Amino acid sequence: KPITIITIGMAGAGKSTFVQRINSHLHSKDSPPYILNLDPAVAFMPFEANIDIRDTVNYKEVMKQYNLGPNGGILTALNLFTTKFDQVLELVEKRSDSVELGLLVFGRTYVILDTPGQIEIFTWSASGAIITDAIASSFPSVVAYVIDTPRCSAPATFMSNMLYACSILYKTKLPFILVFNKTDVQPHEFALEWMHDFEAFQEALATHEGNRDADGEPTYMNSLMHSMSLVLDEFYKHLKTVGVSSVTGDGIKEFFEAVDASREEYETQYLPDIERAR
Ligand code: GDP
Repeated sequence: KPITIITIGMAGAGKSTFVQRINSHLHSKDSPPYILNLDPAVAFMPFEANIDIRDTVNYKEVMKQYNLGPNGGILTALNLFTTKFDQVLELVEKRSDSVELGLLVFGRTYVILDTPGQIEIFTWSASGAIITDAIASSFPSVVAYVIDTPRCSAPATFMSNMLYACSILYKTKLPFILVFNKTDVQPHEFALEWMHDFEAFQEALATHEGNRDADGEPTYMNSLMHSMSLVLDEFYKHLKTVGVSSVTGDGIKEFFEAVDASREEYETQYLPDIERAR
């Protein structure tokens, strides 16, 4: 069975560019993925999806018909699509089974799920949860959380982003890859250091934010960050990290190594849970 890569990322993190990059990488390896686009509002997609939510629902019509703003329109479009998701799954099961390349026919190795550009529409909606669960109980699945590396080089922003990632891990309970994107602009070594060395992060925090108030006492924010970074320390142990540049293609090979390793993790750690829940 193909493994499904569920790509999630905040707007601007480079998710579309990343999906395009992994898509072309797989094509160059003669292993074209099966692509599902779940973003009803995407105007331009640099790649072609095999299943596209835009072919089924027109979110602008949905906005008009239900008198909604753009976010309400996108969410409602996703909800409408979700009601037919069993059919989508059937299609994926059938179609991912065989792809013709010249005279050869073989099964696909990867399915890519592209989620709406507004991250919370997927991560904080019932539809997002239903789709994730449906996919993860049919196929080995892994979440690729795309991060804008240059934009989280300040310790406080870094931690907010990691807390968000942590909440997604908690909700999906799937194997998880942190994809530090845009390493051509800012290498991700600082992030690795902060994740592996708690004290280095504390130090960066103190240098950046200052850790004492006027009376020389630790500030409230500082002790809060201190406690939260202890929580994150535990979170970091359960995930894989790669640095990539979706522009240059750097790190994409390592990304797929992490995906392939996640398949085993899915089978040994997550599948038993899913089966128990049934
Ligand atoms: P999305 O909103 O997450 O889908 O982000 P996009 O894929 O549209 O990318 C947002 C911006 O970041 C665009 O201007 C991209 O060209 C840029 N971008 C994406 N990936 C990279 C990267 O690896 N390196 C650099 N330098 N820019 C990137």
